[in-house]
Amino acid sequence: MVSQLFSRQRFWRKQELSSYYDIVIIGGGVHGLSTAYYLAKFDKDLKVAVMDKSYLGAGASGRNTAIIRANYLTPEGIAFMNASLKLYEQLSGELGLNLLFSQIGRLDIGHTESTLFWLRQRSEYNQLMGVESNLITPDEVKAIVPEIDLREGKPFPIMGALHHPPAGVARHDAVVWGYARGADRNGVELHPFTEVIGITKEGRRVTGVDTSKGRVKAGLVVSATAGWTSTIARMIDIDVPILTYPLQAFVTEPLKPMIDTTISSGELHTYIYQTERGELVIGGGVDHYPTYSHKSTLHMLEELATNAIRLLPQLRGAKVLRQWTGICDMTPDYAPIIGPVDGVDNFMLNCGWGTWGFKAAPISGKTTAELILTGKVPELIEPFDLNRFYEGRLINERAAAIAAAIH
Ligand SMILES: Cc1cc2nc3c(=O)[nH]c(=O)nc-3n(C[C@H](O)[C@H](O)[C@H](O)COP(=O)(O)OP(=O)(O)OC[C@H]3O[C@@H](n4cnc5c(N)ncnc54)[C@H](O)[C@@H]3O)c2cc1C
Repeated sequence: MVSQLFSRQRFWRKQELSSYYDIVIIGGGVHGLSTAYYLAKFDKDLKVAVMDKSYLGAGASGRNTAIIRANYLTPEGIAFMNASLKLYEQLSGELGLNLLFSQIGRLDIGHTESTLFWLRQRSEYNQLMGVESNLITPDEVKAIVPEIDLREGKPFPIMGALHHPPAGVARHDAVVWGYARGADRNGVELHPFTEVIGITKEGRRVTGVDTSKGRVKAGLVVSATAGWTSTIARMIDIDVPILTYPLQAFVTEPLKPMIDTTISSGELHTYIYQTERGELVIGGGVDHYPTYSHKSTLHMLEELATNAIRLLPQLRGAKVLRQWTGICDMTPDYAPIIGPVDGVDNFMLNCGWGTWGFKAAPISGKTTAELILTGKVPELIEPFDLNRFYEGRLINERAAAIAAAIH
């Protein structure tokens, strides 16, 4: 019994690459893996492979700060993110793995009248769509986070906040591993360290991929490569309105419990929360220039630390434990792109996850799988097609994604 409890079991099998799959998913991040998981859950006979040039979760999925929330600005964004939040509430049970999902809530702080106007608008849209989100006063903010500096008489005074109780955090690695294990158990082949170096085509039809381990034919190729989407797009000569920006974050040494919610300031481009083991997680906006570089910078550390101390002066003197960077696929309207591409058959995009994609992974994977299996676009993702950029149907989620937006 004891040996059974402590026996080491692989989360997924090692597989030899086959010469054909019904569906090849490029990218073993949380979106590629959740798509594979739901595909195999809905149709166990499909032959699906996920290929990643590195280990599973090596991209932004293993580097994010794991905040999950639904208090977006647009009806499209709110409906989509709320559906994802609902799936997160059941996900540990569904995947049979404790994802440490903890609904600690969220405060979006406003420092000016004009931000309060936007926050009020968000709160009203959210409430109309059944998402709990209320505008609260500085005193109510203080009651939730007694340690916060309301900054009366100082620059960036706190004038109110949008309070969103169902928001939470989860363990990002566990979500990646849970989807990977679930996909594997339903027959999906996972191929880490298998780089896609080309996409094969006959006329307008994609026929498969060239990989670092050889050529593979496929009935459908899905790109779920987030910050690397433009490099995949180049392989089939299409344009995607995506620029790749680095996003940095850091954690402090563990400190005694100080806050038990997530706080975000759009005007300071900074967000903070405390993990269960006491580390303060601090993140902010993307770097100022697009690049594929994963380099962390002292400049960003100083900027984020200064802002965090403005909100929580007790952090002065806290030691930084580690800082890291991931890359993000930013779209002009801060909303994702899911679906086929005009003029290219048997190919699908799942990208545009920018700085907000971790929270979206469950519903993104589920709806992408439904689209692939039925050929019908699920209502929740109808607004997120690539053509919106050519037809002027932009979603404009900037106001909701602002803490992590381009400055
Ligand atoms: C510091 C930071 C903080 C963040 N915080 C949050 C947050 O709090 N909440 C939130 O919702 N989102 C957050 N995000 C955003 C979120 O992490 C991403 O949107 C999400 O992880 C994207 O997942 P993905 O699976 O699409 O991409 P990724 O996880 O980036 O996966 C793409 C994969 O594609 C692989 N790949 C690329 N090219 C190839 C190729 N040619 N062949 C094979 N494989 C290839 C890569 O190796 C990579 O593993 C944050 C991001 C960062 C960097």
